[in-house]
Amino acid sequence: MAQEILQVSPLPPFMMKALHEAEYIVHDHTHIKDPGALSKVTAIVGTGAAKVDKKLLMMLPNVKLIAICGVGYDGVDVAAAKEKGILVTHTPGVLTDDVADLAFALVLSIGRRIPQADKFVRNGDWVDDAFNLTHKVSGARLGVVGMGRIGRAIAKRATAFDMPIAYTGRAAKTDLPYPFYKTVGDLAAQVDYLVVAVPGGDDTKNLIGAQVLQALGNTGYLINVARGSVVDQAMLVQALKEKTIAGAALDVFWDEPIIDPELRRLPNVVLTPHIASATVETRQAMAALTLDNLQAFFERRALLTPVPECQ
Ligand code: NAP
Repeated sequence: MAQEILQVSPLPPFMMKALHEAEYIVHDHTHIKDPGALSKVTAIVGTGAAKVDKKLLMMLPNVKLIAICGVGYDGVDVAAAKEKGILVTHTPGVLTDDVADLAFALVLSIGRRIPQADKFVRNGDWVDDAFNLTHKVSGARLGVVGMGRIGRAIAKRATAFDMPIAYTGRAAKTDLPYPFYKTVGDLAAQVDYLVVAVPGGDDTKNLIGAQVLQALGNTGYLINVARGSVVDQAMLVQALKEKTIAGAALDVFWDEPIIDPELRRLPNVVLTPHIASATVETRQAMAALTLDNLQAFFERRALLTPVPECQ
């Protein structure tokens, strides 16, 4: 019998195709209204942007799996899911390189002002003037907030640029040679580039606030590839406007895709539309792992990549 799945966020066409080829009946959350149909749904699928709250779970009496196509699952109420005996999976590892690549591209972009230089050439400004000098990235000090899979991959890339690395997180990693700082503020005071790679959610909300930005100082850059919720965006905009930090490069935002107009107008930022894992290769690998988890679940085999709370 075909399994019925509720899709709670837009999914790439190749993933939809794979779901249909695997003979799942896929309902779109925005269109499903019939309570009878809701009771047939046994699994939920969505991206890292998906919101799966208690209210939604209460409407789905027979759901037993939430398969997230993404490593971050801060939109899922995991506690409510566990209460109802629902398992949650995600896609760790397969996107690590892409996210670290983009984080490093953002370090280079904001440090060397690459988008601004591109605009300078396109606008024809080069005819009248030379582009202002920027700052050297090689050898600059890099701080990682959250030395997990992605944090480690960012550190690996920074090593090739001869950047001294330091980090903060919940606990020091005994297998790493880099200095560990207990607080983000202490780390920020010691680095030129502060790169954020922690999960979103209540525990990390506004982790980067006024005090951290002040510690980073007017020669420091903030790079965020984690979640918009980790940075106090109002404080960040103020720090950028008053130039109490040198600049910021952001892939994630509060209320994305709606971006604060003040942030969009600032000259000392580089902004990307949450694309850290958005390559064909990685999105296909993420989709394949999500489908493998679904298949394992329906065949009553062990899940490949349950979230830590469900292990
Ligand atoms: P991970 O391996 O679980 O690493 C997360 C790291 O953050 C761990 O080192 C963890 O510490 C640390 N951490 C967790 N909670 C913390 C807290 N409250 N305070 C300080 N540190 C904390 O995850 P990952 O695969 O590297 O992914 C990290 C995050 O990147 C994801 O959760 C997601 O939000 C984000 N992401 C964004 C994109 C994008 O498109 N921009 C793409 C993929 C992922 P421990 O080592 O002690 O556990």
